Amino acid sequence: MTAKELVKLQSEFFFGNTTKSFKFRIKNLQKLKEILKSNEAQLYEAIYSDFGKSEYETYETELSLIYHELNLAIKNVSQWSKPQKVTTNLPNQPGTSFIQPEPLGTCLVIGAWNYPYQLSLIPVIAAIAAGNTVILKPSELSAQSSGAMAKLINSNFPTDFLHVMEGGVAETTELLEQKFDKIFFTGSISVGKIVYQAAAKHLTPVVLELGGKSPVFVLPDCDLKMTAKRIVWGKFLNAGQTCVAPDYVLVHKDIKAKLLDEMIVQVREIFNINSDISENYVRIINEKHYDRLMQLIDSKKVVIGGQGFRGALVIQPTIMQDIDFEHIVMQEEIFGPIMPVIEFSNLDDAIKQVKLRPKPLALYVFGKKVKFINKILNEISFGGGAINDTVMHLTNSNLPFGGVGTSGTGNYHGEAGFRAFSHYKSILKKSTLIEPFLKYPPYSDSKLLILKQLLER
Ligand code: NAD
Repeated sequence: MTAKELVKLQSEFFFGNTTKSFKFRIKNLQKLKEILKSNEAQLYEAIYSDFGKSEYETYETELSLIYHELNLAIKNVSQWSKPQKVTTNLPNQPGTSFIQPEPLGTCLVIGAWNYPYQLSLIPVIAAIAAGNTVILKPSELSAQSSGAMAKLINSNFPTDFLHVMEGGVAETTELLEQKFDKIFFTGSISVGKIVYQAAAKHLTPVVLELGGKSPVFVLPDCDLKMTAKRIVWGKFLNAGQTCVAPDYVLVHKDIKAKLLDEMIVQVREIFNINSDISENYVRIINEKHYDRLMQLIDSKKVVIGGQGFRGALVIQPTIMQDIDFEHIVMQEEIFGPIMPVIEFSNLDDAIKQVKLRPKPLALYVFGKKVKFINKILNEISFGGGAINDTVMHLTNSNLPFGGVGTSGTGNYHGEAGFRAFSHYKSILKKSTLIEPFLKYPPYSDSKLLILKQLLER
């Protein structure tokens, strides 16, 4: 089936209003949960062949988040869909006013490869909960995982409601030529621009979940051991192929040496990579990314790691010191297991350096003094982040997740996801008992005086 035929089919189904019923939405969310639960073995196997990733980590970073979002949506969809009453202004009395969510229609979700299940399915869950039909285009780079997801979904759901269309640039380009009611894209900034341009042709609204260089500020009064542990975990999880991974560390010069020592201890304790095989460490997605990453490693600056095993697509967790903003590793989002550490002596200067660059998707601060933490939070614009932790903010569905500026537009997770796939209709309901004469001609100075009293309040 062509992209055009697929969109036509889904649009016709949407027009039939079936997806608007809560029963239908909840039934399909439950069905998705059952299908995923009863086919977990296939899902684990596919991720293993794409990344060499353990079941434990696949559950922790993919399936648990999907189940959590499914449970949340099943429980709350009728509450989220309720019309919300708001106050009515004086000129519209007697009357009532309310805001009523409605589904947008036929939506396109384009996923990235680094967490192929959750980055594809969490937006799909939100779209279904909001009452839409969905076409999912997962990444071709995580081919086994995308294939497993396509097989499960396409054999269990009708094409006119939910369908996975596999493919790369050609297939995505064909999809993007169609008119959708919403496009939800996760991926790189460069492809984000292509998606935005294609959407603009149809005035289709978009959510763009993009990337960037997410800094970690380490202040002198931080808890060093905990700081090092949480930075190391957040960075080397999924071998650094995480959109909100700490990209680089900005550490105060007084504690730089101690932080580096502690990070080395933590890398050894948590990952212990001495060869190309590790149960608890993930591979790089392909040779192209492997080669790109190896070129960023500056052996003179390495304090731990630095070695790669091309055949196995494994790069050791690598920390580099004495890096400055001009270094090659600081030019683009790293998206791999390489951590540059930059020291600073003046917090204002460090903040300025971050502000001179594109707005990050995430930002992390480790320290105790509220004054300095708030200074960083208030002065730098970024998508979201954490104080004294890394990455974990995205597991709280009460925190809308998304970027700002080049790191993205729009957000999702929990109710924010439902909102992303809904239109909020504003409705005024008027009584027919009276009609103010002030609205109508003939106009007069005395009527204008009364109008001025009423309308500006
Ligand atoms: P990508 O932009 O290369 O690919 C994303 C999707 O776009 C894929 O499905 C791919 O098939 C499609 N695509 C690629 N080239 C295209 C083209 N020319 N025209 C149309 N479609 C095209 O991104 P990626 O390599 O899969 O992911 C890595 C990037 O995504 C990183 O920058 C990372 O930070 C970002 N990311 C962001 C989030 C987030 O939630 N904000 C999550 C994961 C990844």
